[in-house]
Amino acid sequence: MSNDCIFCQIVAGQAPSAPIAETESTFAFMDIQPGSDGHLLVVPKRHSTDLRDIPADDLAEVALESQRIAKHAYSAWDADGVNLLNCCGADAWQTVFHFHMHVIPRYRDKDKDRLRLPFEPGIRGNQDLIDSLAASMRESLGEG
Ligand code: 5GP
Ligand code: ZN
Repeated sequence: MSNDCIFCQIVAGQAPSAPIAETESTFAFMDIQPGSDGHLLVVPKRHSTDLRDIPADDLAEVALESQRIAKHAYSAWDADGVNLLNCCGADAWQTVFHFHMHVIPRYRDKDKDRLRLPFEPGIRGNQDLIDSLAASMRESLGEG
């Protein structure tokens, strides 16, 4: 546990939360600044900073628990869709540096849903740039 981490404090019961579910290695609770009705967070109980340092077993458990809860958003809350979101790094909007998956139920009813796409859809990218980024990632991955 990291003492100055708000999510570690929530997992330990030392800070308040509206809990949803708990497994051996994960804890799920409601987000206090929801982007839509029912927006919640799934965290590993063990502290990791972000996507780069979370152990594979914690990442797998968080993903599976996010899927389990996401399915229930349809039955419990009449969601029309769900977004899973993870932010890795301040430049990717991470503000709490304990790994977490956002489970964000989505609704056709916009009174329940304040999310908008963060990028402009429908704008075709520069194909040369797409190809060269694919090549540098393949090289970095050792994919030939
Ligand atoms: P991030 O921007 O790091 O991906 O998301 C952090 C999320 O944690 C935000 O959606 C924010 O509303 C939520 N959050 C921050 N502090 C607290 C807290 O003390 N309790 C709860 N339940 N959520 C929090
Ligand atoms: Zn923590």
